[in-house]
Amino acid sequence: MLTATTQDGEMITLVRLSKQAINRLRREEVFYCPACHSPVIVKAGDVITPHFAHIGDNQCPKGSGGESDYHYKGKLLLYEWFLHQQIDVSLEPYLPSIQQRPDLLIRLKGRLIAIEFQCAKIDVHTIYKRNQGYKLVNIIPIWILGANQLKRISSHHIQVNQFTLSFIHRFAAKHPTVLFYFCPHTKQFSFIRDLIIVSSNRALAKQTFHPLSHITFYHLFSRTYFTNEQLFSLWSREKRKFRLRSSQPYGQERTWRNWLYEKQLHIDYLPTHIFLPIRSQYNMKVPLWNWQSHFLLDFMDQFQIGEVFTLVKAEKYLKKFMRKKVDRQMIRFDSHPIAEYLQLLCQIGLIVQIGEGIFKKQQKLTFYKQIEKALAGDDDLLIRFMYNRI
Ligand SMILES: [Zn+2]
Repeated sequence: MLTATTQDGEMITLVRLSKQAINRLRREEVFYCPACHSPVIVKAGDVITPHFAHIGDNQCPKGSGGESDYHYKGKLLLYEWFLHQQIDVSLEPYLPSIQQRPDLLIRLKGRLIAIEFQCAKIDVHTIYKRNQGYKLVNIIPIWILGANQLKRISSHHIQVNQFTLSFIHRFAAKHPTVLFYFCPHTKQFSFIRDLIIVSSNRALAKQTFHPLSHITFYHLFSRTYFTNEQLFSLWSREKRKFRLRSSQPYGQERTWRNWLYEKQLHIDYLPTHIFLPIRSQYNMKVPLWNWQSHFLLDFMDQFQIGEVFTLVKAEKYLKKFMRKKVDRQMIRFDSHPIAEYLQLLCQIGLIVQIGEGIFKKQQKLTFYKQIEKALAGDDDLLIRFMYNRI
């Protein structure tokens, strides 16, 4: 921890003090953990950020455990960044009512926002517990991940896993999804916006990089999206990869392929409506192609052309493919993947919306007989999406 209390209850931070001042304090004062009140010792040296630590192996029952120097540096830089913007900020305040200690707590326009700088992997339930605590006292948490957790694949792709997916924020209807990363070494933010999850470990995203000194807190909330042209041209490559992939499937993927096989189908022949990009895919526990094909080949197949179905019924069908709420806690405004998908299917003309949440089947699905025809059909559709000719 960076702050501790003295015997008189005064809060002390060692960071901006000289070596001599730290040594004097170390001799003359006793310091206590603001959370559990046990005595703590000063840790300072030439290379490490001066901080306090519990004695021996004594882990603070109310603290977040060991912190790295990377964490200390990041936390401090962010703290100073808020100070510089004249935003009311406190460093590691202890909140007795919920027994939590956010890295930073800011007060802004009557709101309380906790900033957590997370540099190490923690399990989803720990994140959940902390978020629940904040909710209890009306604090909005924002999680900034250490850039050491960011795995970029290309200028438009990042690697994702269950851990990163739990930190996708979405603040309001018009805001894109976003992941925040900060690197204390380069003093740079990476904003990963408008994530579109492609497979279990890969997502498309708008990536921007900003030196700390060039931006303010408000930049965290800017609305940057892919244009249709960008998105669907990137998607045409994804679709091609999907059609031509020849890996050995296992687990979930194997089950899906067996299901296709039982229907005497193959990826080559699937209608072009399967595997379309959906922004709220973070809600799903199976890949896009999996639930979209189940939806079209199982759910939609039961209807004749001209027959009507409701959004509620479609949502109900999709429920078994959805993740639990606990896995997507930072989504303050959610949209339903099926609502998004039905919109796309309307645009293509497979269905038509005839009322609030009511749809009518318009066309039969067309299956391809040759891979060349399928690829051409995919390109044709995605080009129509790119240029809004749909
Ligand atoms: Zn403690």
